[in-house]
Parts: sequence; structure tokens; C-alpha cells
Amino acid sequence: MGGRDRPKIVILGAGFGGLELATLLSGAFGEAVDVTLIEKGDSFVFGYSKLDVMFGRASAEEVRIPYAPFRKPGVRLLRRAVTAIDPAARIVTTDDGVFEADFLVVALGADYDLDATPGMAAAGEFYSVAGAERMRAALSGFSQGRALVGVADAPYKCPPAPSECALMLHDHLVARGVRAACEIELVLPLPTPIPPAPETSKAILAAFAERGIVFTGGRRVASVDNARKVARLDDGSERAFDLFLGVPKHRVPAVVEAAGLAENGWIPVDPRTLRTRFANVFAIGDGANTGTPKAGVFAEGAARAVAATIIAGIRGVDDDARYDGTGTCYIEFGSGRIGKVEVDFFSGPKPTGRHHEPSPALRAEKAAFGTSRRQRWFALPD
Ligand SMILES: Cc1cc2nc3c(=O)[nH]c(=O)nc-3n(C[C@H](O)[C@H](O)[C@H](O)COP(=O)(O)OP(=O)(O)OC[C@H]3O[C@@H](n4cnc5c(N)ncnc54)[C@H](O)[C@@H]3O)c2cc1C
Repeated sequence: MGGRDRPKIVILGAGFGGLELATLLSGAFGEAVDVTLIEKGDSFVFGYSKLDVMFGRASAEEVRIPYAPFRKPGVRLLRRAVTAIDPAARIVTTDDGVFEADFLVVALGADYDLDATPGMAAAGEFYSVAGAERMRAALSGFSQGRALVGVADAPYKCPPAPSECALMLHDHLVARGVRAACEIELVLPLPTPIPPAPETSKAILAAFAERGIVFTGGRRVASVDNARKVARLDDGSERAFDLFLGVPKHRVPAVVEAAGLAENGWIPVDPRTLRTRFANVFAIGDGANTGTPKAGVFAEGAARAVAATIIAGIRGVDDDARYDGTGTCYIEFGSGRIGKVEVDFFSGPKPTGRHHEPSPALRAEKAAFGTSRRQRWFALPD
């Protein structure tokens, strides 16, 4: 470990992956390791909270969890922006200081490439907190006409989220007494709402049919003409809209691209060990190309595998840790009903998904998902 007393682990990004990894390393070693967690933001937000903000269930302030209470032995969380990464030397440059690592873990998530889809920036997106806030204002002025939930490309975060958006939009318009005057269409690059889980896809498509939501699968939104209020799809067809709710194309942050860590927009890794081609440099979460969905639960699973590998490396024991590629997603079916899908990407020849019908118990489970992370990472009561 470079002749120093305490092994130095530098984790870039305090999202789902980074927070979980730092927590596990602290749990294993306490003050015996030197973990630096570098994050440019001042607060953490659960992805699904953006839907709550958009539909007026919570304010942006209410869903922000400040990083201040994150205190773990052996870990310092520093508010810095990463400006350069040298993966061969494991040296990270920030806007305030340079950091060297024995183990370097890139957990910087995915950025939105609004410019990749002409017109998307002006049309509006709901995948960031600021975008969800703007969408909330746009929604309040929408009482008739066509609403188009449009996804620019796959992969995108949380595969069920655009479907949840369409179902929650239906509820929102019903509650305002204007649903009959509105149409809703969802354009999704995936052929079905959740391809590895046919039963869940069937249930979501049935929910769409019951509510008169039009589903167009296997199509991307290629551009948006805001003057004509028309979205053009990748097959050249057009969809008129009065309200556009966009999901932009995703890719790794520019600093990751500049470091030579990415190929075709994502960081190539061994999907089971999360190792990049650089020695003792790992990538976890949305930025890593593992073939598993871009969701917080999967980022946590990858963090668990990398934690086990680093722990074994420091203790000098065999490392048989493998990312299992499994995860559970809760799905808003509308009318306050929450279902669940358990997906498994690596056990069989192809990914599988187990569907759980919406139930009151699952509503409580989803709440517990958030509460348990708030407690574990931030020592917050609920
Ligand atoms: C609408 C919506 C609903 C969702 N619902 C769910 C759900 O129900 N369940 C679920 O599991 N997932 C859900 N997700 C997905 C989930 O939010 C992401 O997959 C998850 O956050 C990925 O974790 P991560 O650690 O890879 O990245 P992130 O959580 O995005 O963390 C990356 C961190 O890196 C920081 N960072 C980036 N660049 C820099 C830099 N240059 N310097 C310093 N710091 C930097 C960022 O500020 C960020 O805090 C949803 C997402 C959306 C948008």
C-alpha cells in the first residue's frame, strides 16, 4: 500500500454507490483506513423523489438530504468538484486539491446529454430536480390537449420511471378533473416497459389500457420542434404535443470521458468484478457498463462487491467477491398502488424478472427502502 500506514481509498461521487461503499469500508475498518469521498453537491436526492416533486407531493427542499450528517469513522466526505482523473497513476484533481489513491472507485453516475436531442432542452425534462420543478409549473397550466412522455435513448435511469410518470400523470389529471380533455402517450426505446420482466410489463400495459394511455415501444424521440410542438421519432413519424415530459439521453460525466475511462458513453468494466482496465481502479453505478439497469439498488450491489474486493485486498486474503446483478424495484402503478419487480441479470442465460402485484405491504416496503438508507447513511430517524 505504497509504504503508508493506512490504505488510501478515494471514492468519486456520493450517490447510491459511493455512499454505500464508504459505509461498508467504514464498517469493516473504522479508522484503520483512509477513505476520501469526493462530491460536488451539498445534498443527496433519491431518484424517485423527482416524480414526487413533479407531481407536487413534495417540494425540492423537502426531498434534499444534506450531506452534513454523513459521518463515518475513517471516511471524510469532501465537497469538491472532480476536474481530472489519471486512472493509470490513480491521481484525482479537484477544484481544491489533488488526491492519490491505492484504490480508486469511480461512482460519478450518469449525466444528461440534452444537446444530443435537438429541442429537448427547451421542451423540458423531469429527470433532474430542477427539471422536475419546472415540469411541475408547466403541469399546472396543462388542462387540455396531448401530453407526451418521451425518452430520447436507452440506457436511461430506472427503466420503470417513464411508465410511472405516465400513470402518475393520469392520476394528477383525474384529480384536477381534466383527464377527459387530455391524451397521454409514452414513447419508450424499450419494446416493453420492463423487458426482463414480462409479467410486470404485462401489468403495466394493462394499467395503461385501463387508463387510455397510449404506449409506443421500441421508438426513440430523435428531436423536438418546439415551434410546431411536434416530436420526431427515430422512424421519422411525428407526435404532436401540448406538454412534453422528456427523458434526455444519458452518458458519463465529461470528466470521466476526458480521463479515457469511457467507450461509447460508458465505462467498460468486468461486469462481475467492476474492475476497469486500470489496476485497482473500479467503476460502480450508473456510469459502469455492466449490462444491468441504471438504478440505485444496482449501484449498491456493485458497491458491495467492490467493498468485499477492497477489504480482501487490504487484509491480504483471497478475493472471491462478485457482483450478483440482482435488484428490486418498486413501481408506482397509479392510484397509490405500488408493485415490485425482482430482477436477476446474471444467474441464468438471460435476465429474468419476478413480478409482485401491487399491495399495501409493498407501499410500506418502498417507504422502508428510503428510511433504511436515510438511517444507514445519514443517521436520520425517517
Ligand atoms: C425519475 C427517477 C426515478 C428513479 N427511481 C429509482 C428507484 O425507484 N429505485 C432505484 O434504485 N433507482 C431509481 N432511480 C435511479 C437512481 O437514482 C440512480 O440509478 C442512482 O442514483 C445511481 O447511483 P450512482 O451512485 O451511480 O450515481 P448518483 O446517485 O447519480 O451519484 C453520483 C454522484 O456523483 C456526483 N458527481 C458527478 N460529477 C461530479 C464531479 N465532477 N465531481 C464531484 N462529484 C460529482 C453527483 O453530484 C452525484 O452525487 C431513479 C432515477 C430517476 C431519474
